[in-house]
Amino acid sequence: MNIPERILMGPGPSTVPARILRAMSSPTLGHLDPRYIEIMDSVCIKLRKVYETENALTFPVSATGMAGMECVVTNLMEPGDEAIVCVNGVFGGRMVDVMERAGVTVHRLDVPWGEIFPLEMLGEAIQRYPKAKALGIVHAETSTGAHQPLEGLGNLLHDAGMLLIVDAVTSLGGHPLKVDEWGIDAIYSGTQKCLSCPPGLSPVSFSPRAVEITESRKTKVQSWYFDISMLKDYYKGSGKRAYHHTAPVNMIYALHEALTIVLEEGLEARHARHARLHRRLRAGLESMGIQYVPEHSLHTLNCIHIPEGADDAAVRAKLLDDYSIEIGAGLGPFAGKAWRIGLMGHSATQANVDLVLAALVDCLE
Ligand code: PLP
Repeated sequence: MNIPERILMGPGPSTVPARILRAMSSPTLGHLDPRYIEIMDSVCIKLRKVYETENALTFPVSATGMAGMECVVTNLMEPGDEAIVCVNGVFGGRMVDVMERAGVTVHRLDVPWGEIFPLEMLGEAIQRYPKAKALGIVHAETSTGAHQPLEGLGNLLHDAGMLLIVDAVTSLGGHPLKVDEWGIDAIYSGTQKCLSCPPGLSPVSFSPRAVEITESRKTKVQSWYFDISMLKDYYKGSGKRAYHHTAPVNMIYALHEALTIVLEEGLEARHARHARLHRRLRAGLESMGIQYVPEHSLHTLNCIHIPEGADDAAVRAKLLDDYSIEIGAGLGPFAGKAWRIGLMGHSATQANVDLVLAALVDCLE
């Protein structure tokens, strides 16, 4: 196939370390083989550590981040339920769509793309829609680079008897994410961003309260594949482990290795590395006169205005051809107006930051 080596500094996937690729090439075991089950149990234990949660139901859904979104929404919500969904970019918009397809009446909260939701605004919405069962929000909006603070939101929702659903696809492993402390009831992520694993799995976690709510559903979960009432027996190992679907065995090896690498580095050190490299990149870009789109920027995804007179596609093509660096184009209203530079996991190194800055200087000449 002759695949080129790239430096992946776009919105994901990020560069996958050789250690993870080697783990993936280990012999494929049967998905009920005792040794495989040990590895899968270990993945779930490590995921709890990375999500900073005691939630028993924490496991990787066998598909990408969107599957995590569908798994969380279809299990927690029933047709006729109401939900508040916060939209400040592409992925909040997708959550609205997934909720509506599940028969949910959505009260959509919008702020301009690139901005975040102040806690007061969320508090007012909770009062305005007392019948809502849940509020859905994106922690790291990959389309705009906005970093949504979550502290305090879980308490507001729980006081009103509602659930907090969080999209953490671009934050898990790159930004602090304290599932239990922040009162998050259901959360999903992806393997291909700050965990630097290939795309293909979506780590999810459900609080005991969220699980109770799914146990008292009046209707069947509309998706067979994502129904946690069946999945939990396989992942929680509650005695019997029966066939549900054929687990993507080699991807589980990859995730095991990726989580081992995260925990070897340590969560605090890893978050600090992403913060430090974001500051270095930001200082370099700003010294070139390039401005960030969001005021509250993620460390993991740097969304910047394309400088006046620069040819969007030509610059990205030159970065790829001459430097083998991938950066991301703008999405939606930012198409042709913004670039997205990812600093995720294994791609977040000082060498990469300095190289992308030098390469941009060259490509913008
Ligand atoms: N949510 C966010 C914030 C994302 O950035 C992405 C992917 O980029 C997704 C959801 C969907 O994940 P996937 O593309 O892995 O299905």
